Amino acid sequence: MLSSVLVTRSPCLSQSPASVDPSSRALSRRAEESPPVPGRSGGESASTHDGVPRRQLLCGADLFRPGHLTSAYPRPVADALPNDFRPAARVTPEQAPLPREASVVIVGGGVMGVSIAFHLAEAGVGDVLLLERAALGSGSTCKAAGGIRAQFSDPLNVQLGARSLQAFERFRERPGQDIDLRQVGYLFLLDMEEDVAAFESAVSMQNDLGVDSRMVGPDEVRRLCPLVRTEDLLAAAWSPRDGHCTPESVVLGYAGAARRLGAGLRTGVEVLDVETAGGAVAGVVTSHGTVRTPTVVCAAGAWSAQIGAMAGVPLPVTPYRRQILFTEPIADLPPGLPMTIDFATTFYFHGEGRGLLMGMSDPDEPASFRVDTDDAWLPRLTDAMERRAPGLLDVGVTGGWAGLYEVTPDHIALIGSSTTVPGFVYATGFSGHGFLQAPAVGEVVRDLVLGDPPVLDIAPLSVGRFASLEAGSADHARPEVNLV
Ligand SMILES: Cc1cc2nc3c(=O)[nH]c(=O)nc-3n(C[C@H](O)[C@H](O)[C@H](O)COP(=O)(O)OP(=O)(O)OC[C@H]3O[C@@H](n4cnc5c(N)ncnc54)[C@H](O)[C@@H]3O)c2cc1C
Repeated sequence: MLSSVLVTRSPCLSQSPASVDPSSRALSRRAEESPPVPGRSGGESASTHDGVPRRQLLCGADLFRPGHLTSAYPRPVADALPNDFRPAARVTPEQAPLPREASVVIVGGGVMGVSIAFHLAEAGVGDVLLLERAALGSGSTCKAAGGIRAQFSDPLNVQLGARSLQAFERFRERPGQDIDLRQVGYLFLLDMEEDVAAFESAVSMQNDLGVDSRMVGPDEVRRLCPLVRTEDLLAAAWSPRDGHCTPESVVLGYAGAARRLGAGLRTGVEVLDVETAGGAVAGVVTSHGTVRTPTVVCAAGAWSAQIGAMAGVPLPVTPYRRQILFTEPIADLPPGLPMTIDFATTFYFHGEGRGLLMGMSDPDEPASFRVDTDDAWLPRLTDAMERRAPGLLDVGVTGGWAGLYEVTPDHIALIGSSTTVPGFVYATGFSGHGFLQAPAVGEVVRDLVLGDPPVLDIAPLSVGRFASLEAGSADHARPEVNLV
């Protein structure tokens, strides 16, 4: 068994040396000066450090311990991976006073917040202020697997995903950042008749919306992903334009460009309350003073219910912990492996450096804000691996982390302007696919704030759809099938 590198810190921008200074200049300077991020997965440029995934290097790998999935998830990994949301330990609050007024205050500096800030600033909106209580990207965003796709069962998710894919493809030009985009495709493996039927129907709808997805048989699955055991496989849904990219780089790109365009992005500032006057938004109370504003955008991810409650707008967003693992370098790893998902179990993996990133949902996980790691999910994971990719069971584990899914009752986002509290806008509840929707959602929220018709009609995503659920009607819920 090979020794493996243990990740001891979580993935977020705050952990690169430059980011101990969270000031605006520091981050925008990095956005301008930092060299292109090396590859995350597969191929020649995947890693310059002996195959250690780029994101582990970002996190500072400084312990070496063995790990092996068949023998057990090494206890030291679980012990040493921290409950890493410790803003007080890592973030120096900015000393400069906050502005007293802003045209728009965005709460949350994850991928949504920085995308919204960028799109507003690019549209010429002045005095945009983003407030993040910890470091940019330190919530769910930098815990994401980085998967990007347009393969969904809900047409609005397809359109948000497809529009965002276009933006990711042009990210180097706008906003201007290398994001290590790998369009290696998404491959949903299907072994149940009813799932095949559901995916056939979804693929047909995706094709109608211009997405180049198709159903493939076991032979093509073996060609696309030789790691997969296909004996019991009926079919798979394949979309070659999907793939993955680096969340930290996306945050960096949007944040740097937003700042260059004049937006204020402040870290280490917690929003404590939303003030209203005459029923409309009037300002925010923060750990660093009060800011008057007519518009608050809630982009607080898993913590959005709290922000909604401050404004008197119920946002049904529930946090659930999710864990992912990294493997050691794998000899002869086939190049260009797709994001491969065993749909029945949700076990998934994609190339990361010269190894793999892998994850899976845990139906026994209760709702909580926990982000510590443990091994309770590993028996289920290894069962799924044994069934679908048994060769991976002998691969060593080098580390992993846990983050939060921000889940709504129908696993589809909440995007809209409050009808009861004018000036309160929300973009949250992405239920595990928010990273991939951030570019399009940034455009949509820009339009909502400006009062323009949104680039996509997201009216069905308003929180009002759950009012009818409470009244006993499920007419307006939009259950998404292609969940990971
Ligand atoms: C293990 C894992 C894998 C995932 N994989 C994928 C994937 O492959 N593809 C994909 O599309 N999505 C994936 N996701 C989901 C994705 O990470 C989220 O949907 C997305 O990051 C949400 O972004 P956000 O900006 O809305 O939230 P966040 O990134 O959580 O940002 C919200 C921010 O708000 C801040 N905040 C909260 N309250 C306050 C306050 N009172 N004052 C100031 N700031 C506050 C928080 O500190 C946080 O930084 C994954 C998630 C996890 C956990």
